[in-house]
Amino acid sequence: MSPVHTMSMFRWLKPLGRRLVGTLVQVETSEPVVALTFDDGPHPVYTPRILDLLAEHDARATFFMIGRHAARHRDLVARVAAEGHAIGNHTFNHVPMPQTPRRRRLRELWAARRAIAPHGARLFRPPFGGQTYGSRLDLLLFGYEVVCWNGQVDDWVAQSPQALAQRLNDQLHPGFIVLLHDQLENPRDPEAIDRTPLIEALAAVLARRRSDYRFVTVPELMRIGRPVRRPWFRPAL
Ligand SMILES: [Zn+2]
Repeated sequence: MSPVHTMSMFRWLKPLGRRLVGTLVQVETSEPVVALTFDDGPHPVYTPRILDLLAEHDARATFFMIGRHAARHRDLVARVAAEGHAIGNHTFNHVPMPQTPRRRRLRELWAARRAIAPHGARLFRPPFGGQTYGSRLDLLLFGYEVVCWNGQVDDWVAQSPQALAQRLNDQLHPGFIVLLHDQLENPRDPEAIDRTPLIEALAAVLARRRSDYRFVTVPELMRIGRPVRRPWFRPAL
């Protein structure tokens, strides 16, 4: 094969590799659109409050649900879907993928998929952001897009609503995917379990920015911009 052919083959292979084993972190767009994502729910108190707020401001979001909670709150899962939000898989028991044996990983994915059916999109977020090459390949078998983030506000640490609002406001850039939690499954800071400060911050930011930003689901974000996928292989945070 001539060097020119080899080069063109590699040019073709790299984007294909990114598509197959890369992890979505944002999209490239000049449009003022952001995907807010909420992990670890659904929660019987906090999730409905977030849904009310999103509806009030005509905003859509993506909820990466833990299957165990989804199975217990089927009505909430249905409400999230009915209100136009996207639902993704976050495993059944919030297991860190790198430390979990492969057979258990697959069982976790299947069980969560069943729990969010028929509303689940083909989206997965690894608990604690932990991923290995092997676990990424499991998701490829499932036909899932792995979605991580490029914006976050450390909402697992207790902060004032004002501090959270400031940080959330700073994450609004075209095409960003922002990590938030409607519940903390493995809280390290017990004071952060209460989601009220985050909900107050969200209310302030949505009210202030709804005229200049559109809040969309991850699938809609991917239709608007060019998906940016990166190698994301790291231990669970
Ligand atoms: Zn999580």
